[in-house]
Amino acid sequence: MDYLASLNEPQYEGVVNTEGPAMIIAGAGSGKTRVLTYRIAYLIKEKGVDPFSILALTFTNKAAKEMRERIATVVGSNARNLWMGTFHSVFARILRAEADRLGYPSNFTIYDADDSKSLIKTIVKEFGLDDKVYKPNVVFSRISSAKNRLVSWQEYVNNPIYAADDETAQKPEMGRIYKTYAQRCFKANAMDFDDLLFQTNVLFRDHVDILNKYQHRFKYVLVDEFQDTNVSQYLITKKLSAVSQNIAVVGDDAQSIYAFRGANIENILNFEKDFPDLKVIKLEQNYRSTQNIVNAANSVIARNKGQIKKKVWTTNNDGNRIDLIKSISDNEEGRFVASAIFEQKSQNNYKNEDFAILYRTNSQSRAIEESLRKSGIHYKIYGGLSFYQRKEIKDLMAYLRFAMNTADEQSFRRIINLPKRGIGPTSVEKIVVAAFEHDIPLWEVLNNVNAFLPGRAANAVNDFVTLIKSFQIYVQSKDAYETASHIAKNSGLLKELYDDKTVEGLNRYENVQELLNAIKEFVETPEVEDKSLGAFLQDVALLTDQDNEDPDNKDFVSLMTIHSSKGLEFKNVFIVGLEEDLFPSQMMMSSRDDLEEERRLFYVAITRAKENLYFSYALSRYRYGRLINCEPSRFIEEVDPSFIFVNTRYGSREPKLGRNDGPPGFNANFARNLMANKKSAPKKPLQYHKPSADFRPSDTSGLQEGMKVEHPKFGFGKVSKMDTSGANKKAKVIFEDFGEKTLLLTFAKLRIV
Ligand code: ATP
Ligand code: MG
Repeated sequence: MDYLASLNEPQYEGVVNTEGPAMIIAGAGSGKTRVLTYRIAYLIKEKGVDPFSILALTFTNKAAKEMRERIATVVGSNARNLWMGTFHSVFARILRAEADRLGYPSNFTIYDADDSKSLIKTIVKEFGLDDKVYKPNVVFSRISSAKNRLVSWQEYVNNPIYAADDETAQKPEMGRIYKTYAQRCFKANAMDFDDLLFQTNVLFRDHVDILNKYQHRFKYVLVDEFQDTNVSQYLITKKLSAVSQNIAVVGDDAQSIYAFRGANIENILNFEKDFPDLKVIKLEQNYRSTQNIVNAANSVIARNKGQIKKKVWTTNNDGNRIDLIKSISDNEEGRFVASAIFEQKSQNNYKNEDFAILYRTNSQSRAIEESLRKSGIHYKIYGGLSFYQRKEIKDLMAYLRFAMNTADEQSFRRIINLPKRGIGPTSVEKIVVAAFEHDIPLWEVLNNVNAFLPGRAANAVNDFVTLIKSFQIYVQSKDAYETASHIAKNSGLLKELYDDKTVEGLNRYENVQELLNAIKEFVETPEVEDKSLGAFLQDVALLTDQDNEDPDNKDFVSLMTIHSSKGLEFKNVFIVGLEEDLFPSQMMMSSRDDLEEERRLFYVAITRAKENLYFSYALSRYRYGRLINCEPSRFIEEVDPSFIFVNTRYGSREPKLGRNDGPPGFNANFARNLMANKKSAPKKPLQYHKPSADFRPSDTSGLQEGMKVEHPKFGFGKVSKMDTSGANKKAKVIFEDFGEKTLLLTFAKLRIV
């Protein structure tokens, strides 16, 4: 029974008190997941509970897999029979079994977000509505949020509250779209992602016999990462455990990072009301990280107002200070990270798997990937494809390749009908077969296509050929960057992505921009003599050639977004791109709640590290085809400076850093030096302004250039520029203490003084 011996007192309590409702809300690395895992093992091994009657809900399938393996080491192969997985996977399984009750066949399709949004697009079009007003992304999140609050389309169209809301948002047709969308999904035998939870709720609400069946089947319900459950998920678990009362949830309010998707922190508070016999267990000892990391994390999260007070401490070693690495550019950042990993591996016997590189958004992985590849460091990207494997990147690369080499059949197949030109697969096959049968180049077939295809298809191909010819002129006369941006624009690829205002669409657009950035950097590198597109393509091809993965080699550095790192731990963690507007994200700075969510994300990132933690930021970064100057993230300043060490061995040695140069060692002046490098930095350490009035009813409609304003956090300032051209009206304000900020007027709380 040595698994029980490895628990501290409160953890042990959490494991062996299996009956009745229990909740553990505790800090990162305190063993919440371990308690949940061993609780399950204990139920099976000591209490003889049938694994079929245990339901455990995790946040990712990977977490479920790990937990199951851990349990198997205690109870053996019996662990196979546990009901364990994400909410979506477990309830999809139950819905399949009970689908007929809801009028669905059991082989219903699950629509992913892309499917959903393209259906919405179709509906908006059919209704003759303006898709700039009814953007698929906006409509989709509105429907999604309704479903996650368990608002059916029937309720939506009948309740005047929603109509009024939509009227205000100038989207009066929202209800009708929701209704049609739901009906069309149903007719297509499809459930979207939110339906998996929504329909489970419907099932349990309308079919008491079925609810009873599962209430009796699942004698024990356990939920990890409880802070990130939404209302719909909460209700399901509550109903399922209403009879047995055996529900155990673990979580950390300080790690709640999915509010933007409807996760509801209130669930923690409601839980106490819904289960009055609740046993609350506190875990305070952190087993994961060094003193320095634990204390640094505590110093950050203490700045958030909305949180449940808790202590987190550790008896682990002090460990090293957090290394702060500053780079001139994103590419240099990639190189520094790679050399730091290289050095750590050779000096301290770490393996690749001991390292994780965490970033705020997926598109940041490109520069990092490139330097890891160049240094021969094996890596793996989680949740998100490797940069050059992404569809949109492959699409543009295919255009570039085809413009270079019109015999490239794979690229041809990829782009001939992209964007759509009405050239179907049969035509494509005819062209390819013709080239093969007559033993002539593909390009020759394309140039004489009227001989092979009927009128309309032939015309479309002729247009395509003309387009490619116009690209070839660029290839011959311009550099790689000019050629690639011309092709991106004129092929229609960029426009198609630009028009797709969904989150994924924006991401893809950013990724294509990021590829263009890479090409720009390539042509601007002084050492590069041949700046042609051909030279760039060869460079990239060679890069990818080094990337031949060895399937037996599981020893890789992990690259992932912070969101997907939740619950995981690594000996060495790099948090890269710690810059204002990137992290905290530009979109999350206009309200305290948003900023607090970003800060929790930062807390999650810090607390992934066991032994060494690195912060990294670049002073410039290519974004949207432009070299942008960046400022270090405010989050760096929020960490108590005594836990930070300014690393100048990897970091840039700019003269401005002054006394921070020289031998590694503690430098209490780092914060000041950091500030001196900021263009619009405050003279004194960040201290937010105390608002002189209530900002809730703030009205920015009369705002004009030159006006003096007060912001609840940044204090007083003057409007230097108004930008009312786009959909997002903005004001540039120069604040006395905080320098220039661009504020979105929809969100900004400003008082004209
Ligand atoms: P997070 O909030 O990040 O999800 P958590 O609270 O779930 O963290 P765990 O992942 O369960 O924490 O535990 C963190 C680390 O500490 C793990 O490596 C775990 O094995 C170890 N650990 C937990 N409790 C103990 C203990 N009593 N003795 C030794 N190691 C422990
Ligand atoms: Mg955990």
